[in-house]
This record gives sequence, structure tokens and C-alpha cells, in this order.
Amino acid sequence: MKTLSADVVVVGGGSTGAGVVRDVAMRGYSAILVDRADLGQGTTGRYHGLLHSGGRYVVSDPHSATECAEENAIVTRIQSHAVERTGGYFVATHVDDPAWGDDWAQGATDTKVPFEEVSTAEVLKAEPRVNPKISRAFKVEDGSVDGWQLVWSAANSAKLYGAQILTYHRVTKINRDGDRVSQVVCTDEKTGEEVRINTNFVLNCAAAWGGQIAHMAGCPDVQVVPGAGIMIAMNHRLTNSVINRLTYPADGDILVPVHTVCIIGTTDQKADDPDKLQIAWDEVQQMMDCGELLVPGFRNARAIHAWAGARPLVKDSRVGSGDTRHMSRGMSIIDHSERDGLKGLLTIAGGKLTTYRLMAENVVNAMCAQLGESRPCTTANEQVPGSEDKKNYVITHRLEEREHDRTSDQILCECELMSKGMFTRALADQPKGSFDDLRRQLRLGMGPCQGGFCSMRATGVALQSEHIDIERATGLVRLFLKNRWIGIWPILYGDQVRQTALDNWIFQGTLDVEHLPGPTHEEVV
Ligand SMILES: Cc1cc2nc3c(=O)[nH]c(=O)nc-3n(C[C@H](O)[C@H](O)[C@H](O)COP(=O)(O)OP(=O)(O)OC[C@H]3O[C@@H](n4cnc5c(N)ncnc54)[C@H](O)[C@@H]3O)c2cc1C
Repeated sequence: MKTLSADVVVVGGGSTGAGVVRDVAMRGYSAILVDRADLGQGTTGRYHGLLHSGGRYVVSDPHSATECAEENAIVTRIQSHAVERTGGYFVATHVDDPAWGDDWAQGATDTKVPFEEVSTAEVLKAEPRVNPKISRAFKVEDGSVDGWQLVWSAANSAKLYGAQILTYHRVTKINRDGDRVSQVVCTDEKTGEEVRINTNFVLNCAAAWGGQIAHMAGCPDVQVVPGAGIMIAMNHRLTNSVINRLTYPADGDILVPVHTVCIIGTTDQKADDPDKLQIAWDEVQQMMDCGELLVPGFRNARAIHAWAGARPLVKDSRVGSGDTRHMSRGMSIIDHSERDGLKGLLTIAGGKLTTYRLMAENVVNAMCAQLGESRPCTTANEQVPGSEDKKNYVITHRLEEREHDRTSDQILCECELMSKGMFTRALADQPKGSFDDLRRQLRLGMGPCQGGFCSMRATGVALQSEHIDIERATGLVRLFLKNRWIGIWPILYGDQVRQTALDNWIFQGTLDVEHLPGPTHEEVV
């Protein structure tokens, strides 16, 4: 058993937890963040990739619209390397009422979401694949954001201020001393060791799992209802801007270009368990139809991966209006000292990845208020590591890097231009990491071939590392391919069947991957 101590323990390493640990550390508290898995492996790693301009909410949720517009500008500045300033359009397709654009424009004006009405000809010139039957269009400041880059850079910023980040540490219990939180008990998922963290304050950022964490502290019935949505990545960028339908928020109404692919989404279905989200065939077909409406011929592109995420929707009948502070319709903070008589525990859930920094500011303000301390938030004023040069991500970044190292560094993943040097450096930083941990940082296997070629090369390179023997290397690649498969089988039709058959032929036919030696304890996530 290991014992640690910190002023504050942050539970959950999604965007909210990463923002919170950074904020807490920057205000001078000692802090430890724990997550049961890698950072960004919950909803933050299973979302749509959109840095909202606010346009989506100008009519349905004006408060959120303004928050998104303000935070979009801040995140674009402080985490420039994670954000691509793609810009976006709201377009009325032939099935949408162009007159609704008047309500939308009024809403955007009222909520201070920057926009400009543009001609349909201008949209079609910029985005020739967009449906030529569009009748009205507005230009907005949507962007695309890499959730893993965002989370890791916030965590790295927190580390510079002294915070510890403990991935693969599952919280199993929260102990109390009278009416105060006193200790968080975790299991190190890699070693099985118990880790006890003595603390005065726990900030519960476990989102869809937040009710379970509150329950561990003896605060029952915190209902965080998982609202599941699916998304599908297509094999290349069909548009370079975000394309939204000019309509009240609905299923499948946004297409987001993210790195080398574009993503259509999403749906909204109540799920029973955030760890068991389904991707139904009819939802896949629904997304394809929605894509077709925005970009005719959408179905001719190849769907390469599908995934689902769970929106953490707080629905707590035991909380009075005085206890839960609805910072906006989407962002809820539960003060357990008021709700359950337990000091030193706050639960935060809801909101959006776009507003993660503001969520952190709000919950840490609430913590300072409970502690009777005044320490101002400074997270909006400082660039995170990696964004010091204030340059936003552009799709050609890796190509430009290749220009400098093309004779000295071999390419492992052609789809994503990931080099051997990038892979070996990441492996040296995370010697115990899985290929999926590395994928989230490098985009290994996330392009059109979905690991068909790069996973074998990566395994060969990993074997050259002093930390990895043959058994571990083959175990890593088998686990990686199993995890990729989870997102491939729901979209197996058309050309993707051919690609999958080719990949399987390589994996099984030539290398017999299934029967390679490997550890038995690693489980599919
Ligand atoms: C389908 C969909 C699409 C979306 N698209 C967008 C979008 O385009 N733009 C946008 O701004 N927002 C979007 N969102 C919203 C956004 O993704 C979420 O608001 C955000 O990612 C939530 O982050 P979080 O940190 O609160 O939760 P999570 O990322 O889920 O983090 C919670 C963490 O808690 C950890 N945890 C759970 N149990 C334990 C335990 N026992 N011990 C330790 N750790 C534990 C989990 O591993 C997880 O990492 C979307 C959401 C969904 C569902």
C-alpha cells in the first residue's frame, strides 16, 4: 500500500478534470488527479471534435451559446496547438425552412455569437461538396479541437504547477472523518497496489460515472443519466469547414473536419450504463442519410470508424434549487455539504468540452468559497505547454515537419504521417503505455487504413525498445487490433468490407496474430 497526500484530489481525467486540476494547481493548491484509465478515455475521447462557436445553441440554449462563444476564443488562444480554426457554416438545406434563419440570426445577435450572413455561392465556392440546393447560409467561428491534445496539455500545465497526474488509478472508496472528506482510496490498475490519498477536498469530475463516485462518499442517489450519441468518421475530409444544418438542434446535423478525416454526428439516446454503449445499425444508416443531406454522395466515401459517447446529464430530484447551481442549462455543480451534509466534496457534470475551462473555474470558485479563501482564477491568461508560440494547428503541420526530416526519420503510419521518431519518443515517455495510449497522442491507426499497415510496423519498432519483449509486443498489437475492431464492425458495408478483409488477411493470413503469444490479463476497453 502507498499513501500520498494533497490539498485537493480531482477524480476523472476528462476535459473537466484536466481543466480543474490545472486551475487548482495554478491557484496554489497541491493537487492529485486520478483516472481509472488513460486521460481522455471517457466521453472526452468519444465526442464530435467541435469547438463550438455557440451557433448551435443561439435559439435552444442562449446561455450556453454565449459561454461557447467566449470560451471558443479563450481555448483557441491558450491551447492553440489543439485547435484548428476551420470556421463553419450554418446552411439551410432543401428540407429546412430558410425563414428560420431569421430566428437564428436574432438569437446569434442577442447571445453575442459572431456571425455573418453569406451568399450560398460563397459557401459553394469555399466548400464545393456541400449540397448545391442550400437556400441560406451563415458563417461562424466554429473550429475543430483534438480532445486528447487539449486534455494532456492542460494536465502538463498542471504538472508544471506541481500537480500529480495518476492515470490507471481507479477510485474505489472515499473515506470521511465526521462530516468531512478525509481520504480517497484507489487501486493502481497496472500493479494492483492500493493507493490512499489523504486530502481535505475532492472534486468529482467523473461525469457519467459521477453518481458512482458520490455514492462511494456516502452521498446516494446522485443521478447522472448517460445520454448516448454515436459518431462516424469518414475516410477523408469531405469539407474543410464545419457544416451545420440551419435548424433547431437535431440528430446528425453537424459535419466536422478533424485532422485527416471528417466526422458526422450525432444522436441522443438515454443509456443504462455508460460503459456499455451500443451502436445500432439503424443509427449508422441515419447518420449516413444525414451526411448525404449536407454533402451529396456522402455514402460513396468510406466510413472507417464508429464510436459512442455518453453525455453526463444531471437529474437529481433530491437537490433543491438552492443546492444545485445551474451555471447554465448544461453545467451543474452539486455541493454535497448542502445536499448531504458532507464538507469537502463537490460534483460537477454536464457542459461541453468547449466550455471545460469555465466549468473548472466555476467549481474551483465554489471550492474556494466553501474553504473561505479568495484565490483568483488565472487559467485564461496563460498558454499551456505546446501552445507558447500561439500558432493554431493546421492540417499540413506534419507534412511541413516531414520536409525537414524526410531522409532521417522513417514513416510508420502513412495515413497520419506518424514517424518512427514520434513513436519511439512517445514510447520512451510512457514505457508502460498500451498502443491505444500512444494512439490517442499520435493518431496511430486512426486514418483510413485503421491500423492495417502501421500497427505491424509499430510492433516491430516497439520490440527494439529495451522495455518490451516479444510477448508484450504481440500482446500490445493484439489488444490494439481488438479495440480498433469495436469501432469497425458497426460500419461494415461497401468498400470498408474490402479494406477490412485486406487488413484481416495481413493480420491473420500472414502473421497469425490471433495465435501469437501475449499476456492474458489485458482487457479490451
Ligand atoms: C456524442 C457526443 C458528442 C459531443 N460532441 C461535442 C463537441 O463536438 N463539442 C463539445 O464541446 N462537446 C461535445 N460533447 C460534450 C463533451 O464531450 C463532454 O461535455 C466532455 O467531454 C465531458 O468531459 P468530462 O471530463 O466531464 O467527462 P469524461 O471525459 O467522461 O471524464 C470522466 C472521467 O472519469 C473517469 N472515471 C470514471 N470512474 C472513475 C473511477 N472510479 N475512478 C477514477 N476515474 C474514474 C473516466 O475514466 C473518465 O475519464 C459531446 C458529447 C457527446 C456524448
